Amino acid sequence: MKKEINGKTKTIGLIGENIENSLSPFIHNQIIIKYSLDFCYLPFQVKEADLNKAIQGIKALNIKGVNVTFPYKEKVIEFLDEVKESARRIGAVNTIVNNKGNLTGYNTDLIGFKKSLQDNGKFVIKEKNAVILGAGGAARGVIYTLLEEGIEEISIFNRTLKKAKKIKQDFSPFFPQSNINIFSFEQDNIKNKIKEANLLVNATSIGMVCQIDNTPLSDEKLFHPNLLVYDLIYHPVKTLFLKQAERAGAKIINGLPMLVYQGIESFYLWTGLKPDGEEILEIVRQIA
Ligand code: NDP
Repeated sequence: MKKEINGKTKTIGLIGENIENSLSPFIHNQIIIKYSLDFCYLPFQVKEADLNKAIQGIKALNIKGVNVTFPYKEKVIEFLDEVKESARRIGAVNTIVNNKGNLTGYNTDLIGFKKSLQDNGKFVIKEKNAVILGAGGAARGVIYTLLEEGIEEISIFNRTLKKAKKIKQDFSPFFPQSNINIFSFEQDNIKNKIKEANLLVNATSIGMVCQIDNTPLSDEKLFHPNLLVYDLIYHPVKTLFLKQAERAGAKIINGLPMLVYQGIESFYLWTGLKPDGEEILEIVRQIA
């Protein structure tokens, strides 16, 4: 945002349902201020019945692009002109780029997760063993990234087993060598797999700010020091899950680095500018 918005200012933004507390407007407008760009990032609260009209409005209003968040990452796909292959395979778009009226969908969550794992977790994905809790939209992106990067074994635990089954069914053809196990969300199942795992990801919504006393693992003793424990949740910044993991000596990461890095990748797609991720992450950490 320049000091004043003028007739040349370019608009980017966020489409979602309940976005009042989203950090994305803060992140993007901080980048805009820092690099003195003539852009402005706005939140667009959209009702499901208006989603198609909102997407067509991107063209009509010459908006340069938008992020898409819960619950529209899957639903927007049918309204786009093009969808990048990885986003199509996962079935979720979190970024739309408007190139002269042609709307292309991307999924920058993949890059956000991968970069945070490598840079913040110092984790080498190849030939490792991961346990993923959850099989919703975020889990699909996490699992796809790990498979693409050569993880040796993935065990997916979900309350609704058919969603975990669908992930295996959708992704196996692209990764024929993959070793994907699926289980219902029972603590005994989880316990056995965590013992052998190097990476444990909470991709459920259990532990978010509305339920801070909840954790997806009932037994704190299941954590061990050889685990990297990753919670995709960033609000609160340290969930009970992460607190327990830390007490057990495990290395932990919250969802903030992923959020910032996916945003930076989206920003690059819209503007051609790639801000310094660490600097922006530091700014976001101060207000989160
Ligand atoms: P979805 O609604 O698609 O998935 C939610 C998942 O949580 C499902 O697997 C669901 O299981 C599971 N779940 C919810 N409640 C329970 C419960 N009581 N017991 C067991 N399982 C439960 O959400 P998303 O995948 O989009 O988001 C998941 C989390 O990831 C959220 O906390 C979100 O904030 C975070 N996220 C973070 C991002 C980041 O950049 N850091 C990016 C995207 C998401 P079931 O299938 O049985 O319903």
